[in-house]
Amino acid sequence: MEFRDLKKQYQALKPQIDAAMQTICANATFIGGAPVKELEEQLAADVGRKHCITCANGTDALQLAEMAYGIESGDAVFVPDFTFFSTAETVASLGATPIFVDVDEETFNMDPKKLEQAICRVKQEGKLKAKAIVAVDLFGLPADFETIEQIAKREGLVVVEDGAQGFGGMLNGKRACSFGDIATTSFFPAKPLGGYGDGGAIFTDDDEIAALLRSLCVHGKNGQDKYDNIRLGMNSRLDSLQAAILKIKLDAFAKTELDAVNQAAAWYNEALAGIDAALPVVPKGFYSSWAQYTLRFETKEKRDAAQAALKAAGIPSMIYYGRAMHQQGVFSDMPYSGTCPVTERLCQTVLSLPMHPYLQHEDVLSVAKVLKEINK
Ligand SMILES: *Cc1c(COP(=O)(O)O)cnc(C)c1O
Repeated sequence: MEFRDLKKQYQALKPQIDAAMQTICANATFIGGAPVKELEEQLAADVGRKHCITCANGTDALQLAEMAYGIESGDAVFVPDFTFFSTAETVASLGATPIFVDVDEETFNMDPKKLEQAICRVKQEGKLKAKAIVAVDLFGLPADFETIEQIAKREGLVVVEDGAQGFGGMLNGKRACSFGDIATTSFFPAKPLGGYGDGGAIFTDDDEIAALLRSLCVHGKNGQDKYDNIRLGMNSRLDSLQAAILKIKLDAFAKTELDAVNQAAAWYNEALAGIDAALPVVPKGFYSSWAQYTLRFETKEKRDAAQAALKAAGIPSMIYYGRAMHQQGVFSDMPYSGTCPVTERLCQTVLSLPMHPYLQHEDVLSVAKVLKEINK
């Protein structure tokens, strides 16, 4: 069994993907061109946002979004303590200070109450300017954007949605990557919508920010002229090959894969009912794209025993994440909002199971069999 079976996906989509790659090679337009433009238009329409600007990866997407809002030294940017490194890395790379906010134990996402406390502390201290919130759609479940956006409005903060794992998710009928002032995603192969290499995208409704991002992606170019550079930017573009592949994958994602992965989650929920671990929670009004299906055990010992039993049965599992942001070596001297006990506990007790749209019911049953037999 594969943790995320990209080979099976390729077999399902092979004729279209092979043909698309051959067309790109025959036309020899490897950067930009029609596939990139068409993918951006399709993505913006699907998500429900005016502009989509593709770029080289999800980390660049975050950094470009943060650059577009002028995030810089002296700014405090609130990020979840339980996330992939890029969320905090990009903030710190721009010279700003990431403030680590604890998460909700059940949803794994930024806890709005802890966010309010962290903002309050930064404002009281008065050393940094409270500037922005980067909220993550962890494991495919949108963050609580209705509450987070209210807090941001009241406090005058920019909201960035890090939808690297969230593409396809929904909150009260609104799609992931349509939240906040600006949203980003990643097309890393293992993400809900993955390419055959690196890729990323930024979503905004703001015409000026969109134009600024088009410039920042190509060395700070002036309008269409890339040899007239009016600001410092990056070299961050999506390849034509990736765009052509992603167009086919996006179609499959919308037509079958998003439903299939939700079916797999329902199979897990049914087969794992009653095991000695908490199953993932999708609150009312939320819809997940299941980047991960993640269990919570009572203790590290129980988690590690479950992982060992799965391994012995030839079933892969992963620990996302084993280390909190505030525990990362590079951030050891950063101030953070007190301790983050929930994140610290999750790092000891979470375990993600094989999850992808091509998972079969019998795969789910064999995973469940192992987990049910541990305590017998
Ligand atoms: C994967 C990921 C990123 C970075 O995406 P890349 O394309 O790998 O650069 C950022 N944030 C989160 C939450 C991620 O999971």
